[in-house]
Amino acid sequence: MSDTPSADGSPAHELQFDQVEYVEPAALAACGVCSRPMRDVYYEVNGTSFCQSCREQLQQTLTSGSAAGRFARATVYGSLAGLAGAAIYYGVREATNIEFGLIAVVVGLMIGKAVKTGSNARGGWLYQGLAIFLTYTAIVVTYIPPLVTAIRAQADKEKAAAKEKQPAKPAGAAEAPGDAGALPPPTLREFLLAVAFLVGFAYALPVMVGFQSPMALLIVGFGLYEAWIINRKVPLVINGPYQLGQRGAGGAVHVDPAG
Ligand SMILES: [Zn+2]
Repeated sequence: MSDTPSADGSPAHELQFDQVEYVEPAALAACGVCSRPMRDVYYEVNGTSFCQSCREQLQQTLTSGSAAGRFARATVYGSLAGLAGAAIYYGVREATNIEFGLIAVVVGLMIGKAVKTGSNARGGWLYQGLAIFLTYTAIVVTYIPPLVTAIRAQADKEKAAAKEKQPAKPAGAAEAPGDAGALPPPTLREFLLAVAFLVGFAYALPVMVGFQSPMALLIVGFGLYEAWIINRKVPLVINGPYQLGQRGAGGAVHVDPAG
C-alpha cells in the first residue's frame, strides 16, 4: 500500500476493502494473571485478561469460605503486619530519636495490603475499618514502652520520697503485713483499671503529640488514609467469554462480592 496524494494534494489513507487485515491479538494472547497463553476463550475482569482457569479460580475465591473466616484471616495478617510495622516505627524512632511520621505511611501501606490479602481483596467498610484500627494501634503500641518507662520512673521517685519522710523503724519491731515499706499488691480491679487507663492514654498519645506537631498528625492521618483506600470496595466487572481474536461475544457480568 502507498499513500497516494489525492486530487487536492493531501495524503489519503486508503481504506482497505480488498484485503483482510489480520491483527495478532498479542496483548490478549497471554493471561493477565498467570501469564500462560490463553486458548479459545478469555475473559476480562476490570480490564485485565483472564484465562478460563484463572476465571474459574476467581469465581471460587469469591464464593468459597465464610465471612467470619475471611475476617479472622484479615485480622491475623493485618496484626502480623502491624507488629512488623510497629517494630520498624519504634526502632527508627529509638535509633534516631526523631519522630519519623513518614513511617506511619509505610505502616499503613503494609497493614492495608495485609488486610487486603487476608480478606481476598474483599474490600468494604468492614475491612477498611479493620485496617485503620490496626494501623492506629500499631502506632500506639510504639508509645507504650516509653510510657511504661516514664510511669516507672515516676513511681520510683514517689517511693523514694515516701521513704525519706518515714521515721526510722526501731530495730526488731514486728512488721505488720502490708506495711513492709512496699505498697500493698494491687487488687485485680485496680490492676485492670490501671491497664485500661494506660491503654486509653496510649491511644490518645498520637493525637496529643499531634497538637504539638501538626505535621506528625497529618502524616499519621495519611497512613490511616492509605490503609483505608487500599481496602476500598472495587466492584468486579467480568466481561466475556470472548472468542480469542474477536470481541463482542458474551455479555458483561457484574459481580457484587457482598459479605
Ligand atoms: Zn490465567
